[in-house]
Amino acid sequence: MAPSGRRQYLWIFLAAALASFLAGFTVGWLSKPLKDTATSADSHQNLRWKLISEMKADNIKSFLRSFTKLPHLAGTEQNLLLAKKIQNQWKKFGLDSAELVHYDVLLSYPNETNANYISVIDEQGTEIFNTSYVEPPPDGYENVKNIVPPYNAFSPPGVPEGELVYVNYARTEDFFKLEREMNINCTGKIVIARYGRIFRGNKVKNAMLAGAKGIILYSDPADYSAPGVQPYPKGWNLPGTAAQRGNVLNLNGAGDPLTPGYPAKEYTFRLDVEDGVGIPQIPVHPIGYNDAEILLRYLGGTASPDDSWKGGLNVSYNIGPGFIGHDSFRKVRMHVYNINKITRIYNVIGTIRGSVEPDRYVILGGHRDSWVFGGIDPTSGAATLQEVAQSFGKLLSSGWRPRRTIIFASWDAEEFGLLGSTEWAEENVKTLQERSVAYINSDSSIEGNYTLRVDCTPLLHQLVYKLTKEISSPDDGFESKSLYESWLEKDPSSESKTLPRISKLGSGSDFEAYFQRLGIASGRVRYTKNKKTDTYSSYPIYHTIYETFELVEKFYDPTFKKQLAVAQLRGALVYELADAKIIPFNIQDYAKTLENYARSIYNSSRTHEQACRSHGVSFESLFSAVKNFSEAASDFHRRLSQVDLNNPIAVRIMNDQLMFLERAFIDPLGLPGRPFYRHIIFAPSSHNKYAGESFPGIFDAMFDIENKADPHSAWKEVKKHISIAAFTIQAAAGTLKEFL
Ligand SMILES: [Zn+2]
Repeated sequence: MAPSGRRQYLWIFLAAALASFLAGFTVGWLSKPLKDTATSADSHQNLRWKLISEMKADNIKSFLRSFTKLPHLAGTEQNLLLAKKIQNQWKKFGLDSAELVHYDVLLSYPNETNANYISVIDEQGTEIFNTSYVEPPPDGYENVKNIVPPYNAFSPPGVPEGELVYVNYARTEDFFKLEREMNINCTGKIVIARYGRIFRGNKVKNAMLAGAKGIILYSDPADYSAPGVQPYPKGWNLPGTAAQRGNVLNLNGAGDPLTPGYPAKEYTFRLDVEDGVGIPQIPVHPIGYNDAEILLRYLGGTASPDDSWKGGLNVSYNIGPGFIGHDSFRKVRMHVYNINKITRIYNVIGTIRGSVEPDRYVILGGHRDSWVFGGIDPTSGAATLQEVAQSFGKLLSSGWRPRRTIIFASWDAEEFGLLGSTEWAEENVKTLQERSVAYINSDSSIEGNYTLRVDCTPLLHQLVYKLTKEISSPDDGFESKSLYESWLEKDPSSESKTLPRISKLGSGSDFEAYFQRLGIASGRVRYTKNKKTDTYSSYPIYHTIYETFELVEKFYDPTFKKQLAVAQLRGALVYELADAKIIPFNIQDYAKTLENYARSIYNSSRTHEQACRSHGVSFESLFSAVKNFSEAASDFHRRLSQVDLNNPIAVRIMNDQLMFLERAFIDPLGLPGRPFYRHIIFAPSSHNKYAGESFPGIFDAMFDIENKADPHSAWKEVKKHISIAAFTIQAAAGTLKEFL
């Protein structure tokens, strides 16, 4: 290049640098009461598009490849090394900080010298059949060390033996059927339940309440295979040799079982393990369907009540107790030798300091720990988290800074009861409840490859609709269409065919402490299966050794475009929540949601019309509170549309009301028996932690009320919870007023 040419190039470069500095300067200082011009809105939107287009499917693929070579069980050296790797990458991306934060929590591992298994024993007590100890490793992973065999974390050790009883999914309704209609008593028996439909911890609790002395969990092909699909590695179905790992706690949001309510630091008082929260009292162990078939084959006793109790194995699905004919003297013996250990875990916490409101936080968090390789759970989420962080880093290097602070979190020990995320929430509770705008979860980004699945607070519905219209659909046949369009066509909401489905939050991932305990507006998005045709639970090889990189690359998302769309949506949500001058929440959608829930809980009370009348139960106060809330929401949005965007105090007043609205639904006393579930509108279902329940206090008080021993006090409880819900909604409406 000639000298003059070089000089000209330099001038262009300097001009460009100046322009980009000025752009960054302008964007960074928009909060100054400058005129809120169309230009600032444009540049905000341009940067959002830039963030979205910055993300690349190939980057997600290489993060997934790199993070899934080895197992990353919580509490192990490998998972600490991955934490450090993620920390270093965040620093390289240009985040303002990236720190490891540790806690010492109770974890549970199999005994390395005494394997868990289940046997059939003969009259003399000789073990004539034993279930397998391990899953055969997939190709290419034969030499990997430290693969934890299938087990149920926090099962107590024990060697119970007894007659076997098949209890279907071990749901509340399954035990009602057994006890009330079939007169089958599980006391002193070992029960066998199929995985699926509900969280496994609820199954164990139900078995304990029924008097069982042990519970075997197995994956039935009816629940973990899709028709016409081969088992892994030829296809994505569950092989008969695989078993689902998973914890069996009933923590109800407590975090570390030994330090409920407080961070598990060095100085913290710890309960004895016998008093630990949610730890089951009977041994639990998971097996695959090859082994289950042998246990179930000779079950005798009562026949299964109907086809809903029959799975896909070639067995009778008799209930038992015990075996048929000449095998009737045989019993089942469980061998469980798990060990509880207080173990150090590590979250990685990264920050981008907000330029205008550094004391307002938007959190994007997902777990890093996995049972084995974590191909889908969690690493398809951890890889998207990484790509989102990298893209924010690129925006930062162009001079941009968000209005509010963004916090990135790579949580540890999610698989052991959401421990890393809950301990961090406990340690930072005072600042988080004062300063958090929203929490977006980044667990698995795929559980299927059909369409988008969104669970979130009603405050976020409009924002999700808006952003999905800007993201390209990754679906075949929707090339040139938006994510919104493919989502709407494939999964319209049941109430309105003109909107795609959004569901309520339950639990089962790290948003729990933030939403259910602290009342921080939260959401989660991922790709999912077609729930009309795909009737299997979660995805077939969930929590097995076969959840590898190859599973994702060969079968779920070969182009990584679905994961890219999820990364783009998670990133765009964080961007809008952190950078929009007015927090993009819609309170009128909360009002509509409350109207629907109030009508629905009232309708379910009408099956007890007579009892409601005689016990003086009325929903009037609830309907009246919801009406007041709706009016307050309309009035709030009217004021919001008129706010002077150039008046920083006026903007901050509105934003504070928006931020604290979700908090207003928190009752400091919590739900009955569940002090860490404090949201009055939403809670994880008492019968299935994964599912969300609306008006959980009223719902639980009315549940099975026709069978309560003391109807008078049962209906009094219903009245109490209607009144708590009415008060809370009325009080929340009060927070929307301009002044008292
Ligand atoms: Zn997960």
